[in-house]
Amino acid sequence: MRKNSPHIIIIGGGIIGTSIAFHLAKQGTQVTLIEAGELASGSSGACDGLVFMQSKKPGVHLRLAMESLKRFEALQKELPTDIEFRKTGGLVVIETETEYQAMEKYVKEQQAIGLDVQMLDTISTLKNEPFLSPEIIGSTYSPLDAQVNPINLTLGFAMAARKNHAKIMTGVKVKDILVENNQVTGVATTIGKIKADLVVNAAGSMAGLISQMVGIHMPIKPRRGQIVVTHAGKSILKHCLISAKYIAAKHDPALAGKKGQGISMEQTDNGNLLLGSTREFAGFNKENTLSGIRGIIKQTATVLPALKNFQVIRTFAGLRPFTPDGLPILGPVKSLDGFIMAAGHEGDGIALSPITGDLMSQMLLGKKPDICLDPFSPDRFLPDRFSDGRFENKDGI
Ligand SMILES: Cc1cc2nc3c(=O)[nH]c(=O)nc-3n(C[C@H](O)[C@H](O)[C@H](O)COP(=O)(O)OP(=O)(O)OC[C@H]3O[C@@H](n4cnc5c(N)ncnc54)[C@H](O)[C@@H]3O)c2cc1C
Repeated sequence: MRKNSPHIIIIGGGIIGTSIAFHLAKQGTQVTLIEAGELASGSSGACDGLVFMQSKKPGVHLRLAMESLKRFEALQKELPTDIEFRKTGGLVVIETETEYQAMEKYVKEQQAIGLDVQMLDTISTLKNEPFLSPEIIGSTYSPLDAQVNPINLTLGFAMAARKNHAKIMTGVKVKDILVENNQVTGVATTIGKIKADLVVNAAGSMAGLISQMVGIHMPIKPRRGQIVVTHAGKSILKHCLISAKYIAAKHDPALAGKKGQGISMEQTDNGNLLLGSTREFAGFNKENTLSGIRGIIKQTATVLPALKNFQVIRTFAGLRPFTPDGLPILGPVKSLDGFIMAAGHEGDGIALSPITGDLMSQMLLGKKPDICLDPFSPDRFLPDRFSDGRFENKDGI
């Protein structure tokens, strides 16, 4: 443990909290991670493992994802679990001419940032993925898209953090944030108070509830995603795939229209197909719905007719931590000393976990982060300050 190291409490044992704990502990920082349930019992244990570059908004979001991607190979070696990182390459399946035109524009923007991505016609797409329907119009392909096992990655971060003397507490719920003279001094939990110099809110879709404990409104909402798992069949997919509608639904729900919310498809090493996923605002309800499951199967069967040879064995749902602008909320909340946000990764938390942990640890240790965190600042959602230092409360919260 470093001398004079601050004591940092992280709330949440999902992929974000454990990645931050790992990156901090590696540098000898005194870290305590507090998780209400089990590690990966939130969204990080109820999701796909796509490390997709093509689904990220061109701009800071895609830049962050590309930097994150670079870190996965090192983690594969460094972490004690098999994170099953596979550079499979990825395809975005295009079903209509309108989608083709929209994707052409999108791809140009991605290429301008340096992403290796190209448009493919129907024949080239079917050469890559022979089991797709010949009715599709084409696809976009990037060799950089990859996949990973999100649970093994979360557990790997936590185990490696523990090895570096981080304290990982599970089954302990944070009930309140302790504050003295506008400075966070620790947390109150189900097993008592714990003092700290800094408190990091990495509570995923529940991060808004944690912020409310100190009267700060963070617009993070749970966005449910349902997933269908099939039995392990013969290998029919070589890449990870999403549909162009998925990108539309993610970045511009109006564009997705009535034709569905878009799908993602991946096949595990065992042969199970993981088909996802809905994007719904249903509060904290994690139940599957018949219409959600039917929609996923119907849309997948249209582009992947071979699905008829697979049987569904399981369904589950997770809650993505949604933010209004689709970007995570990372950094200190200026109105309360020592209160730091690290949440709101929506459908990208697995892909962005390595870079988030790295940048957050730099920031928490008072260093200048390798990538400027200003676009992700919590203050972008906070009311403007009056000249006397008080805050204008636009939401009345
Ligand atoms: C269906 C679906 C598919 C997805 N697919 C992908 C994908 O392919 N690629 C990708 O990159 N991302 C994907 N995601 C998104 C990804 O799962 C999330 O962005 C990521 O898991 C968020 O991690 P987190 O650590 O912020 O939150 P979580 O994993 O939810 O962790 C937060 C933790 O905080 C704990 N907590 C909350 N309140 C308290 C409290 N008071 N005290 C103590 N602990 C508390 C919770 O118990 C929880 O374990 C998907 C999500 C869903 C739902």
